[in-house]
Amino acid sequence: MNQSQLKPYIIIIIEETHPVNFRSFVNILNKLNLSFVIAPDSDSAIFHAEYTNPDVILIPFNSNQGNPQETYHKLKQAKITKNVPVLWMNSYSQLNLQTLNSFMTGDDAFNPFTKSKDYSDYLPTDITIRSLKKQLQIQQELLIQLQAENQHLKRLASLDDLTQLANRRQFYNYLQEQWDSCEEDYLSVILCDVDFFKLYNDTYGHLAGDYCLQKIASAIETAVRRVREPEPYLVARYGGEEFAIILPYLDLENARKVAEEIQLQIHSLKIPHRSSIISSYITCSLGVACSIPSASSHLQELISAADQAMYQAKSQGRDQVQVAKN
Ligand code: GH3
Ligand code: MG
Ligand code: MG
Repeated sequence: MNQSQLKPYIIIIIEETHPVNFRSFVNILNKLNLSFVIAPDSDSAIFHAEYTNPDVILIPFNSNQGNPQETYHKLKQAKITKNVPVLWMNSYSQLNLQTLNSFMTGDDAFNPFTKSKDYSDYLPTDITIRSLKKQLQIQQELLIQLQAENQHLKRLASLDDLTQLANRRQFYNYLQEQWDSCEEDYLSVILCDVDFFKLYNDTYGHLAGDYCLQKIASAIETAVRRVREPEPYLVARYGGEEFAIILPYLDLENARKVAEEIQLQIHSLKIPHRSSIISSYITCSLGVACSIPSASSHLQELISAADQAMYQAKSQGRDQVQVAKN
């Protein structure tokens, strides 16, 4: 089996004069999920074989063909194709799903040049069909496994380990996407920073701090789901104890309401924080900014504005929502 391919690679020799219906033939091969190239003669097939390392060469046999044996022998004499199995089909009418299936499942195995001169009686092949079927199965299983692993890796690359929220990379990718698609419409961002979190760690330990961040993450998700179901806004872990929410097509006033809902959900967690200077429980400071993406505005300005609003919330006593001034 060609290791670079995950399905059998097939070269099909069809002479220009062959009365084949290309479209339906190609449809059949596509349905069978095969990779293939069509070559007009044996020389072209040998040329392709050098670059594609095919698993099989298929020849729909045409009774008008000058000398079918010559095609076969040319392939068997060429260094590149001499070990490539050759499958014969004795007429165009046999180029159907059932026939191709029976090739793949190993129901037929014939060699025209040892059995009979009347090739039309046979559906010949010189490969070990069952081994081809087995290889095909193994490759398909491998493909499914690779696809699953690929998806898993993609998820890992875009998620934050601790909270399972989007990570900073996904935050920026998504924000850029929204920036590009929200042209002339609102795009809002909320930044949310946990208050006195260093003191929390110092008081309760780093593990308790981790757990607290997980609880806050799910409280933010709950709030965001409450305001927009079934397609909640993207919530990301922006940094250590900072979270960010992207709100496309939402103006500043409505984004502020979402921030207030987040604050409410965090209050309702009632996570004790005896070292906090402003409350007995964990609280957060939130900054909200909104922009209308255009040629004259910049994405970085939107983030900076949300950041400034958040610092204003800190400096004005924490545990509150502040919106960016335009
Ligand atoms: P402020 O109210 O001004 O935001 O004060 P703060 O203490 O929250 O801010 P500061 O930036 O001084 O400290 C943030 C702390 O967050 C320090 C750091 O150890 C903690 N932190 C960051 N990431 C994690 C994490 O993944 N787990 C835990 N447990 N702590 C974290
Ligand atoms: Mg911080
Ligand atoms: Mg903080």
